[in-house]
Amino acid sequence: MAVSGCVRLNQAVSELTYFHGPMACGKSTLALQVDYTQTQAGRSGRVFTCLDRSGEAQVASRIGLVRPAIEVSTSFDFWRYTLDQLVTGHRVDYFVCDEAQFYSEGQIDQLARIVDELNIDVFCFGLLTDFRSKLFEASARLVELCDRMELVQVQPLCWCGRVATHNARTVHGNMVTEGNQVEVGDVEGSDAVRYEVLCRRHHQTHVTAARAQAVLGADPLPFDGDEQPSLGAGEGHRRSSVEDALDPDAELTEDD
Ligand SMILES: [Zn+2]
Repeated sequence: MAVSGCVRLNQAVSELTYFHGPMACGKSTLALQVDYTQTQAGRSGRVFTCLDRSGEAQVASRIGLVRPAIEVSTSFDFWRYTLDQLVTGHRVDYFVCDEAQFYSEGQIDQLARIVDELNIDVFCFGLLTDFRSKLFEASARLVELCDRMELVQVQPLCWCGRVATHNARTVHGNMVTEGNQVEVGDVEGSDAVRYEVLCRRHHQTHVTAARAQAVLGADPLPFDGDEQPSLGAGEGHRRSSVEDALDPDAELTEDD
């Protein structure tokens, strides 16, 4: 089902929907699109975020869309906020909750209660797993409680051409697998802490694009010119010379 078709309007029964995907897959862009679509249908909503990479209380997509948002601090109480809004005469039909992986388990419980008891639609957007490929606490709670999970359909690619499913953290260019779960950084820019999306194979073997390049001494071609990895169903990935050079059974583990 197309993602856009999943956002039902004027529905009798509200839902808690969880859109997930790795970094740079367009979650914030989709969050803003959902908000726009709901608004165009005459519904009144609120947009939330937490620790947006822009450093401000806003939802900022990498393709340039920006919208102010309510920051979800650790003490923020969705239930109390919503009751306050309703008793003061404000209309609330839906919530768009970006960066939901950074919320607390309790806040996810509050969102589920808001769906069930106040009949408000909640659309959550976030990462499923962290840089160690472990579930975020809030993401696990969303998996447990949501009515529907949707994988965001824009799939970023690993440097090797496979669909990127895992988030790698690099510090000064080196991939790390230990550290605080939350370190805000981005897949773009020049910060010391950065992120890179990889396929599982290259996440497991710690082969970032820079490392592949260092080993080969040349730009790794992401994939053969005639291959269409983003459409890859049914087509096996072709092992490249890059991967032959970076075979995890070979001398791959010692250079950093
Ligand atoms: Zn890969």
